[in-house]
Amino acid sequence: MMNTTSQNQAYGVLLSSNTVNARGDNNAFQLQPLPYTQDALAPYISERTIQFHYGKHLAGYIENTNKQKAGTEFENKTIEEIMLHAGGSLFNNAAQVYNHYFQFEALQPHRENEAAPCERMMEAIRKEFGGFDEFKAQFTQAAVTLFGSGYAWLTVSPQEKKLEIIQTHNAENPLKDGKIPLLNLDVWEHAYYLDVQNLRAKYVENFWKIVNWNAVEQRWKKAV
Ligand code: MN
Repeated sequence: MMNTTSQNQAYGVLLSSNTVNARGDNNAFQLQPLPYTQDALAPYISERTIQFHYGKHLAGYIENTNKQKAGTEFENKTIEEIMLHAGGSLFNNAAQVYNHYFQFEALQPHRENEAAPCERMMEAIRKEFGGFDEFKAQFTQAAVTLFGSGYAWLTVSPQEKKLEIIQTHNAENPLKDGKIPLLNLDVWEHAYYLDVQNLRAKYVENFWKIVNWNAVEQRWKKAV
């Protein structure tokens, strides 16, 4: 049996992992509630965007994962196990389930005094990026310049505990490359087009107002 650290390295630090892996009838994953109401992120992310992004896109990825895993070797596996070991369309859908829960659980209604991580993680960010503003600028650059659909991520390496900003395309997740994700930003057009149309940079600027740094810090503590 793996210890907690190596489990985190293998499966990541999605805080709601136990919840999102709960299964109902026919072993099917079921859409889990958000940690806030659908209008709670407005005006930075509108209720209408959440209705579609959570209520339609994430729900659809869950439905497709359930359909495609039925009767296969992945029938009883967790979202993380499917993401790490399945290929093709089942991988795409399971990874999107993980990626969306991962983003949604690290957002919160805007709170003026909670726009940054606490001191310990801040220290690690300063050490790696030179400062918090520099970190945000680099992450923003990764999000804005990603061509097509995908994600910007803050990750930490399991051995050296090195923080890194990376881009992935489509449904890809850094866990497949052995990096532990701490924060992600979905830059698929469905994430922002209803709110800001083509202005992805505005979406990223809004994102910084509603990051739940407490959640990100909890993930970091699990990972390191
Ligand atoms: Mn999305």
